[in-house]
Amino acid sequence: MSNSETIKYTCPYCGKEFDVEIYNTVNVSQDPDLKERCMSGDIFRHSCPHCHSDFMIQNPLLYEDTEHRFIIWVSAKELGDLSSFAKPLIAKGYTLRRCATVKEFVEKIQIFEDGANDIAVELAKYDSFIDFLDSRKGKAEDVTSIDYVYTKDDVMKIDIRMDDKGMSFLIPVSGLHDELEANKEMFEIEDEQFPCINSDWILSVFMKAQGNA
Ligand SMILES: [Zn+2]
Repeated sequence: MSNSETIKYTCPYCGKEFDVEIYNTVNVSQDPDLKERCMSGDIFRHSCPHCHSDFMIQNPLLYEDTEHRFIIWVSAKELGDLSSFAKPLIAKGYTLRRCATVKEFVEKIQIFEDGANDIAVELAKYDSFIDFLDSRKGKAEDVTSIDYVYTKDDVMKIDIRMDDKGMSFLIPVSGLHDELEANKEMFEIEDEQFPCINSDWILSVFMKAQGNA
């Protein structure tokens, strides 16, 4: 079930207090209307009734999709021990993740709805970035973002963006899964800990593999 609460909030712009409704839990299988608000990030966006300024309140949010069997905890901070909560969900086949930012959260929903493996996605982004550097189409410092676009017919599309330009990479999914399978231990994660699977994570995996951890 989805759950929200009304809290008193002090506007960061005019300093006046007002009530805002924030969601702690969103179950999109039961409340599909809330999905749009999550995908757009609007669920964290609020407006002050006094001065009409818009701002974000990134409160911790538990996003549950019972149909696609995944749970994302949006929280900038690490979570405590959640094993008693996590174990029965893992037994039911759920994927459990934490996302530190709204951008990561939105992308993660897309990945899991596509039925893609997010570890394979981070690997695809990493491989695309290396290809990008090898092709000499730009420098590492020009890259503004590396985004997952979609998975279709065994192909994953990754975009590398520089301010006004972009480059797309089409990566065969079966190749990514072969790479994960061949390096199982290297990419091992524990869902019980609600791991953050993002660019920092994949970099730490490769650093460790090179003995630089
Ligand atoms: Zn205000």
